[in-house]
Amino acid sequence: MTGRPGTILSLDPHDALGWIQLDDGERVRFGGTALEGFATEDLIGIRVVVLGTIAGYQGVPKAVRVTPLVPVPPTAAKVYPATPRRHWPTFVREHPRWSDAAAASVPFVHSLPPLALPRHPLFSAWHDEICATAPVSRALGVPTVRAEERFVPTAEDCFAHGRLAFLDEARWPTCGLCARPLEMCVQLSSAVLADWIPGAGGLVALFCFHCGIKNPSDPRVGHVRFVRGSMRVEGPAEGTWKSASSGWLADTQRVTPFGPGRLAPSESWHGARAAKAPWTAASGLFGVGDVAFDELPPGATEDLLDDLGAKFDDWLESGPRQPASDRPGGLRAGAWLGGVPCWVQGDRTPSCGGHGEMQHLLDYDGGQFLDGALHVFVCPDRACNALAFVAEF
Ligand SMILES: [Zn+2]
Ligand SMILES: [Zn+2]
Repeated sequence: MTGRPGTILSLDPHDALGWIQLDDGERVRFGGTALEGFATEDLIGIRVVVLGTIAGYQGVPKAVRVTPLVPVPPTAAKVYPATPRRHWPTFVREHPRWSDAAAASVPFVHSLPPLALPRHPLFSAWHDEICATAPVSRALGVPTVRAEERFVPTAEDCFAHGRLAFLDEARWPTCGLCARPLEMCVQLSSAVLADWIPGAGGLVALFCFHCGIKNPSDPRVGHVRFVRGSMRVEGPAEGTWKSASSGWLADTQRVTPFGPGRLAPSESWHGARAAKAPWTAASGLFGVGDVAFDELPPGATEDLLDDLGAKFDDWLESGPRQPASDRPGGLRAGAWLGGVPCWVQGDRTPSCGGHGEMQHLLDYDGGQFLDGALHVFVCPDRACNALAFVAEF
């Protein structure tokens, strides 16, 4: 195909449509998607080659492909297409909802005041939603080192690790794939759980680390249940079998709940969520890589858009903090009850057959899941209350 040389006369950033004056006298329309191989965003006056035209709107000829007249020298090895500029007022109008975080997490049964965040020029349109719908969670402190004092739990305590659990049957749970005894992860009391799932009892989570790495959401590799906890059940004695998890402690560790408080999901959760909720403003800003806008609201400057996600997280940090995750005495947030999951590899929220996508209930690390967590979900239908988990390492 022979190209026709010309010069870019205009390019409207709103609709990414422009005009090219061809050297032979004709004018052709072109769209931003026809541009190939341009190393600059400032295209007005640039010499180009139009490769093919078709009849566009009202018969006006429209360029199929537009490339630079002088090829980009090979030293400019990789040419990244300019981020298309979008119109901020239009984006705001088309994205009235900030996120679906409230629907994705288990609702807290008591009412808490909205988060008190300062106004931010760029997120102002969604300020009230962000503050009022930030999910409520409790950090759960789990000792990172073996506690000095021996802790002997009752069914009313929250605890992690160890070889003791309060279950509904007398048998220590085993893995449905390899038949090894499951490793104790965490047990939460009914009193603590009642703020999210009233009447369901407590929650216990045991896991097989032999099989769980390859089968991270197979229900057979874990025992994640609501429990009444009437049976005090002891696991296998220390030394009688080999664990796959170096993080499992033989002694029971006391779990200390902090909070509760509202915590707005971070940029990384919104980014992971974008594929499931593409219609939200947060997905439009954090799920697509770089963003470029014009007509920003008063007080917002162009540089805010550089690494916008980090700036969003900084803004959240400027608000009230939940009790610190690192505390003196070796306590840290080894788990979070409520809130949204902290995904490592991407959103893998499970669904309950017939009741749709499940809601996030608990993230548990406790030193057993490396950089990841055991993410526990519950069916949104309180009459069903089915549980499921996804492990990440
Ligand atoms: Zn197993
Ligand atoms: Zn269900």
